[in-house]
Amino acid sequence: KSKQSGGTQSCFYTNEMEQKISRKVLLESGLRRALERNEMKVYYQPQVDRDGKGIIGVEALLRWTHPELGNVSPSEFIPIAEETKLIIPIGEWVLEQTCLQLKEWKDRGIVINRVAVNISTIQFHNTNFVQMVRRKIHSHKLPPSSFELEITESVIQDSFTAIPIMKEIKAIGCNLSLDDFGTGYSSLRYLKDFPLDTLKIDKSFIQTVLFSEKDQAIVDTIINMAAQLGLKVIAEGVETEDQLEYLKKNVNIGYQGYLFSPPMDAGNITTSMIFTEVKGSQRF
Ligand code: C2E
Ligand code: MG
Ligand code: MG
Ligand code: MG
Repeated sequence: KSKQSGGTQSCFYTNEMEQKISRKVLLESGLRRALERNEMKVYYQPQVDRDGKGIIGVEALLRWTHPELGNVSPSEFIPIAEETKLIIPIGEWVLEQTCLQLKEWKDRGIVINRVAVNISTIQFHNTNFVQMVRRKIHSHKLPPSSFELEITESVIQDSFTAIPIMKEIKAIGCNLSLDDFGTGYSSLRYLKDFPLDTLKIDKSFIQTVLFSEKDQAIVDTIINMAAQLGLKVIAEGVETEDQLEYLKKNVNIGYQGYLFSPPMDAGNITTSMIFTEVKGSQRF
């Protein structure tokens, strides 16, 4: 029997490749245990109205602290969770957490009208998805209209199957928004057929809106189109007063961005809410 040739294979890989692969393997196996080990947490980022005075709602954003690697960004681990289908139980857990959080806010008399939850395309097309959403919302006795499910343009690539699912979600009473608008397959032709409530302009457009007239033309066009289609608009990634000033000329707009608040722990959101309620017109 030949001896195992341990280690010799590694010379086919460069160090950098090896590191990338082992990080991915670590993340993948870590993701399998992340929920049971309590390593995940949902943060909330406020969505602010046109005047920057009131809170329209919050977006739930997942956070993961890996025991060895520390904080891992969702843009790194969500794609792995999608590849491995772990996004299905993880996504369900996120929805459960937001239900519990909404209830807690409610019990404490804190009014949060809407929570937006990101839905991955894999999760959206999973057979039990609609039923899962319905069951969760009903079992917590929450108004379905308190939820806005955020899908991306990639959901829509398969519009033949996507539209009926979207309609079922709407039939439950939830809102639907199209996230990262303008970055994916902008199937404008289909936009009128989707039962959407909100269009979220991707932050890349907001970050360049003051750079040139062309950048402004794109943002203005998206906002005008949304208005014509009867959709609300949220500008993502608003970081400066100048960007806010530029966007403010539109009637039908809300914002989300570091200028107002980063995503944060539910406890801190509560504090800001009370602050805005007490101070009324002040921006937090
Ligand atoms: P997204 O849904 O487009 O969320 C907005 C992202 O922009 C968040 O990144 C947020 O922290 C960030 N952001 C907010 N304001 C600003 C700003 O002013 N400037 C800049 N530069 N960024 C800002 P985050 O939390 O890292 O999440 C990244 C993406 O990961 C999300 O993008 C979403 O696609 C995905 N994601 C996060 N949580 C979940 C989840 O629970 N389920 C699923 N399926 N995806 C999630
Ligand atoms: Mg989102
Ligand atoms: Mg997104
Ligand atoms: Mg986005």
